[in-house]
Amino acid sequence: MKKLDQLNFENSFACLPQTFHSRLNPTPLPDPYLVSFNADAARLIDLDHNEAANTDFAEHFTGNRLLPGSDPLAMLYAGHQFGHFVPQLGDGRAILLGEVKNRAGDGWEIQLKGAGATPYSRSGDGRAVLRSSIREYLCSEAMHGLGIPTTRALCIVGSDQEVYRESIESAAVVARMAPSHVRFGSFEVFYYRNQHEPIVQLADYVIARHFPRLAGVPDKYPRFLKEVVARTARLMAKWQAVGFSHGVMNTDNMSILGLTFDYGPFGFMDSYDPAYVCNHSDHEGRYAYDQQPHIGLWNLACLAQALTPIISLGDANAALERYESVFSAHYLELMRDKLGLASVHADDEALVGGLLEIMHANQVDYTQLFRSLGHFNSAPSADNATLRDQFIDRAAFDAWAETYRARLQMEQSVDAERKWRMDRVNPKYILRNYLAQVAIRKAEESRDFSEVERLLKLLKRSFDEQPEMESYAALPPDWARHIEVSCSS
Ligand code: AMP
Ligand code: MG
Repeated sequence: MKKLDQLNFENSFACLPQTFHSRLNPTPLPDPYLVSFNADAARLIDLDHNEAANTDFAEHFTGNRLLPGSDPLAMLYAGHQFGHFVPQLGDGRAILLGEVKNRAGDGWEIQLKGAGATPYSRSGDGRAVLRSSIREYLCSEAMHGLGIPTTRALCIVGSDQEVYRESIESAAVVARMAPSHVRFGSFEVFYYRNQHEPIVQLADYVIARHFPRLAGVPDKYPRFLKEVVARTARLMAKWQAVGFSHGVMNTDNMSILGLTFDYGPFGFMDSYDPAYVCNHSDHEGRYAYDQQPHIGLWNLACLAQALTPIISLGDANAALERYESVFSAHYLELMRDKLGLASVHADDEALVGGLLEIMHANQVDYTQLFRSLGHFNSAPSADNATLRDQFIDRAAFDAWAETYRARLQMEQSVDAERKWRMDRVNPKYILRNYLAQVAIRKAEESRDFSEVERLLKLLKRSFDEQPEMESYAALPPDWARHIEVSCSS
């Protein structure tokens, strides 16, 4: 394990021509202090977890002191924001320190989000607030715990420097990690500038580093797009199956690697509602929960268009056409797993749809219902009262349960064995807004980060029963029913 000053930086993105980025150093933050450190992420870059105890650790992860070997820069990109093209965005407050190569040969980029203004900041202050930093940190690790592809988070460092949002808040920096921070918008920016050479360079760069199987093949660009389509479709299926809403699915927030990327006003659904909009500023519900699969495709179409200088229209369309089937197949597979079905049957889609329909009509909690469905007793005499009582319309549940029972019988499902499988796909614990809110309040009011720590530990094991943490599986308390989360962060 390595000391901070021994990290093996490689910085491949910095080696790309100047058109792709702006080199600059982070802007110092006064009196930084460590809010939380994630030893699991440290392991990915071979970093000795004892380093977090060093007094200069926080200095390094605000960017006040530069890590030896790093080559800081802000990445250029464009993006479609809420359907409208913005020709130039770029990292307005995130600074890429570089890429650390670990012993296994994997590269992990480290980006400091909130590390100060850049040439792409427009009117922004280049800062992030403690509140949003805690949300990003916890949710990315929670998603990882759920088995959903995501950027990771190494630590949060705070400072008492004031940041002006709707109210005055304090600044913080999250150290975000990903194999690559390239987004759909990283390609779009050059397409709209009519600069085709950088599109070739960026595609070759991404393929060489992240899709090496394609590097030598003659139709590498169409196959690259196909791969991004498939990864995005599968990611959307995973979000839908777990009840996650991203909130700001702009093309600048879409990872070229199919990772959940840029956590802003995200939310996990409480009661099942297809029209759930987690972003208070999204008045039209463009990024509502049930729109996500469609928006995933819409965003891919923007990417495909940006790639047309190197891919024929026919190939672009052929790649996009695969989206629907990859999404649907994976979604159905995940929902079958959530129902504990071990075989495939033509009526399964209707079975899933039927359950979601009565959950919606009865405002049943998405996470709790699926978790408790593991207890379903398939004996004809069983009344399944704890499940049934989650529905106001008991008869609707009974009717669905009858179909489910028959379906389980068809594959001779064994209750105990099925429950074991279901508990591995239906989380007991998710990052409900109110849980994050309690941790944020403690951190803001009294610099007490114990709740951040507790949630981090809890959510790494979302599928495990943790009896001492039972209350964290509860529905939101009344005060939390109307927490509003907006883009402001
Ligand atoms: P987001 O909605 O967080 O994905 O941000 C959209 C764009 O606005 C990105 O280019 C960000 O870098 C930029 N941005 C967001 N907040 C700030 C800020 N406080 N200062 C500078 N740029 C920002
Ligand atoms: Mg963004």
